[in-house]
Amino acid sequence: MMKKKFELKFIESLVFSNYGIKVKATQIEGEKDDNFKVEAKNKSYFFKIYPKKTDEKFVKFQSQLLSHLKDYKKTGNNNLTSFKKTYATFSDNENEIRFFRMNDWICGRLWSSVNPISNSLREKLGIENAELLIKLSRTKLNYVRKDFDWDLANFLWIEKFYKKINLKKKYQKTIKNTIENLKKKRSKFQKLRKHLIHNDLNDNNIIVSENLKTPTILGLIDFGDCVRSQLINELAVTCTYGIIKSLTPLESAFHIIKGFNSKIKISEDEIDFLYDLILIRISISIVKSALNEKNNPSNKYLQVSKNDMLTIFDKWSKINRELATHFFRHACNFTANINEKKFYKLISQKKSSVNILFKKNEINKLENLDLSVSSKWLSNELINDIYSFEKKINQNLFSTYYGGYLETRAVYDSYDYEKLTDRGFENRTTHLGIDFWVEQKTSVHSIDDGIIKIITNDKTIKGYGGLIIIEHTIEDLNYYSLYGHLSDQKKSKFNIGDLVSKGEKIAEIGSPKENGGWSPHLHFQIMLTILDYENDFPGVCLQNEKEVWSSICPNPSLVLNIKYLSKNKIDEDILKKLRKKYLSANLKLSYDSPIYFVRGFNQYLYSNSGKKYLDTVNNIAHVGHQNVNIVKAAKQQIGILNTNTRYLHDEIISLSENLVSKFPKKLSKAYFVNSGSEANELAIRISNVYSNCDNYIIMQGGYHGNTNKTIEISNYKYNSIGGRGKTNNIFEIPMPDKFRGKFRGKNAEIKYFNEFEKIISKAKKNNKKIGAMIVEPIISCGGQIELPGKFLKKCKKILEKENILLIVDEVQTGFGRVGEKYWGFQLHDVIPDIVTLGKPMGNGHPIGAVICTNEISRRFDNGLEFFSSFGGNTVSCMIANQVIKEIDSRKLQKNAYMTGKYLINGLNELAKKFPVIGDVRGKGLFIGVELVDPNLNPRMDKAIYLVNRMKELGVLMSNDGLDKNVIKIKPPIIFSKIDVDRLLTLLKKVLEEDFMIHN
Ligand code: PMP
Repeated sequence: MMKKKFELKFIESLVFSNYGIKVKATQIEGEKDDNFKVEAKNKSYFFKIYPKKTDEKFVKFQSQLLSHLKDYKKTGNNNLTSFKKTYATFSDNENEIRFFRMNDWICGRLWSSVNPISNSLREKLGIENAELLIKLSRTKLNYVRKDFDWDLANFLWIEKFYKKINLKKKYQKTIKNTIENLKKKRSKFQKLRKHLIHNDLNDNNIIVSENLKTPTILGLIDFGDCVRSQLINELAVTCTYGIIKSLTPLESAFHIIKGFNSKIKISEDEIDFLYDLILIRISISIVKSALNEKNNPSNKYLQVSKNDMLTIFDKWSKINRELATHFFRHACNFTANINEKKFYKLISQKKSSVNILFKKNEINKLENLDLSVSSKWLSNELINDIYSFEKKINQNLFSTYYGGYLETRAVYDSYDYEKLTDRGFENRTTHLGIDFWVEQKTSVHSIDDGIIKIITNDKTIKGYGGLIIIEHTIEDLNYYSLYGHLSDQKKSKFNIGDLVSKGEKIAEIGSPKENGGWSPHLHFQIMLTILDYENDFPGVCLQNEKEVWSSICPNPSLVLNIKYLSKNKIDEDILKKLRKKYLSANLKLSYDSPIYFVRGFNQYLYSNSGKKYLDTVNNIAHVGHQNVNIVKAAKQQIGILNTNTRYLHDEIISLSENLVSKFPKKLSKAYFVNSGSEANELAIRISNVYSNCDNYIIMQGGYHGNTNKTIEISNYKYNSIGGRGKTNNIFEIPMPDKFRGKFRGKNAEIKYFNEFEKIISKAKKNNKKIGAMIVEPIISCGGQIELPGKFLKKCKKILEKENILLIVDEVQTGFGRVGEKYWGFQLHDVIPDIVTLGKPMGNGHPIGAVICTNEISRRFDNGLEFFSSFGGNTVSCMIANQVIKEIDSRKLQKNAYMTGKYLINGLNELAKKFPVIGDVRGKGLFIGVELVDPNLNPRMDKAIYLVNRMKELGVLMSNDGLDKNVIKIKPPIIFSKIDVDRLLTLLKKVLEEDFMIHN
């Protein structure tokens, strides 16, 4: 706690006597001054007492500055005293004159407390900062301070101190280098334009609106460090604090600069200093903290930024200065690489060619190959298996495939390509070179005279393998050519520094063993700089850094003088419009801004822009999206026969055998249909024939399909907006939700069972026969509600007594998802009379089934034929067989059990920290996370926020339940512990955000 120097009563009387306003005062933190928030009836103010011996000119400057800015609504208007003065004085206890002033309080919250800080907020900060400077440029006010430590123009003072403070040697070296670099360019720096700048838009001096989703900038406060200095210093200071807590500080700075530049154009000379100035500002802050800690240990406010600054120093110093400058140039609408235009001009007169790169007779006619994320040529099988890939490449005997510049691809899936950014886990996926799919041992030649800069073997998984980078010169410009996936370069006769001439053979195409594990090809890339790389250079970049990297790495087709076709991208806005035109509005899209997916692969989906999403929603892709074995089986069968059940075929028989073998003996007959709805529709038809009655017991919150009959038995549907309500033949059991349902806690199970009994006895009393009861073993759409304890077992006993059939809907829960058991009903130790299957059964292919007892099947065969054109067709059966095989051979039920347990544990840990998580429930990989307030009211708004934020972070989730406040987690059951760790990391990140915490 800081020492209170003034009684609050004294402050209140000072305000009253000078401003005539009755207020209540509270002290707030400050670096040197005594600051107070003073609150009158309808308005609050900021009241400041300057330290002893403050120069009056400084007080005057500040108060006049605020008066000058009075129509700029984002700074607090300076209040005049009753005597019309902008500031005033009093004598303190020690008889010293003290200056004070008062300005309007800006309501809002501090930037330092905002989470998350979006790039759009950063851009707004840049814009607001520039607007402030424009206002400041209209005054002649100034206060000259010599040797002001916080003026970046005086940065050299830290040279004396930085070695004396407790700072890692590595960091000291960075500071030394930066100082030296700045010293070298000092005269240039001194010539940069000067401006009256705020000079301290730190994260506690920016006031942000209370809107927790899309906040805006409301105020910029504290002009205590305002100084006339280089304008670029202002941007450096603002960037320093605006990037705190960012995992991608370069990108974050980019957005601040972009906003600033939209109002005040930054020059190329100014941009050149920005990286170093940010580093120096961080260093000054660190040195100041260390000195203050020594000299003024009691003032904790002087240490507020210390840890943030150490962290940001570490992150910033790891960024290459030259690369950062590329980003800044791009933010200011210059070509990211300073030489890009010049290179294009020069190279157009000095092109090389493919016939120089390869020997003419070793390549064929060039043909463009699309390997992008949406490529229909590239099946997942080919991504998985380089030999199949090679086979397909070699099918085309008369062409050499090439392509890939700026193509976003799904193939870079190894962890070496991955990084945690502010947008979640991201892979570098955008290809910066051109690939030539030529044979192993094809000779590769230098495209121009040059010097070998890098010759190495890159060992990373899916890396370059053998790699050579050659430096070339045209006029006074250096550029580089990169040759990747070569043979083992340990055996090369070349060394770094060797001269090579145009057309000279430099290497051969490597085998998969030598080339990073790829099918043989050449990755050929052009660079205008190799930054500080000594043994490597990126061949792919993050998709959203494409503009910067493509300026560093121009299109190699220009150098090789070949045509390059870029793929026409489908515009998503047009898709949205056409969807509106042709499809019904009640066919809904997920998320605030919908995603256009072009590829699925295992537990991931890829959008058209190449963003990879971890899928925790699509339980239909049970054994993984486009599972290679399933796709293979489907292709095989569709290639020879796909017909209906009216002919003999082994596939339908083996599927029936496979399925029935997974059930208790009693359930021995199978019917095949095309969907879960159809399965339930058929189950109801069967029960209707069996019992000759159309009355059903159903569960509140239950969902069984989209057809007329299945909607009639789905409380989730008939009871929702637009639904027709319950019909007289339906008897509802209250949803047995022990957490927020009609009955909760200890005796809930019995009470729900009593409700069931009441239905039975009432029906009997009214002479109403009931045909069947239909339930999901874990109610899904209703909110992932587990049926309590022995509830279902007890119901079944009564049902048997009353000759009422039990239909269990396993459309969501079946096929090993619940982990402990293969079917959900087995969790309840009952044997249903009829079981319905769907979703996972075809892993995305439409197939469903009804399984029932021999006796029921016999009664159903009443003369009326059962036939479905597509149900049980040869292809569907082949696929379903393969799904079962995949679950068994890969032990995926066990995986659902183990991974599910691990995930539920992790979610329970999160629930301990974040009270918004009221309940975590479920079995295996069928889990619900319910979001509530302290009074157990549902928080749909938070669930929607969470789902949309997780989507931005690259994780697909969904919210459901009767109050839409339950996060449903039901990923493909190949989900791994690593996936769980990622999911939990990102969930925690979102749960910590303002909308989830302060609302
Ligand atoms: N039953 C349950 C439990 C379901 O969740 C669903 C689909 N969500 C269905 C039946 C209907 O299946 P389909 O959409 O394949 O017709």
